[in-house]
Amino acid sequence: MTKLNGKCLCGEVAFKVEEPAHLDSCHCGQCRTWSGSVNMSLDFTMVEFENRKGLKWYRSSEWAERGFCSTCGSSLFYRLVEDLSKMSVCVGAVQGISDDVKITKEFFIEEKPGFYNLEGEREKLTGAEVFALYGAE
Ligand SMILES: [Zn+2]
Ligand SMILES: [Zn+2]
Repeated sequence: MTKLNGKCLCGEVAFKVEEPAHLDSCHCGQCRTWSGSVNMSLDFTMVEFENRKGLKWYRSSEWAERGFCSTCGSSLFYRLVEDLSKMSVCVGAVQGISDDVKITKEFFIEEKPGFYNLEGEREKLTGAEVFALYGAE
């Protein structure tokens, strides 16, 4: 598998991940506030850290926490507290993702604001459907 490099804006968090087969997106209010807009991410995967000096975690719900760089503020990771080993990784932090990789799911479609739409057709799930499928956001 091809490994891709990832890092925050300042480089105090740096890591490697396997090249993803697909991407997810989430329109929920938490993700939009945290990431600045729709959150596009790699599905839960193993992250190999090369530098985690700036990494901090914020417990954003009973079931999950969000990782960010405490120096430059980049939004980086989302993980479930029941399995801290795998992380959903923000696409903006990962370099070299192929143009052939597609966003295959939109989560919390009912929370999407009207002022943007993602181009193309894919599976769209409501928050209730996400909870039913994964047990957590
Ligand atoms: Zn940083
Ligand atoms: Zn979300």
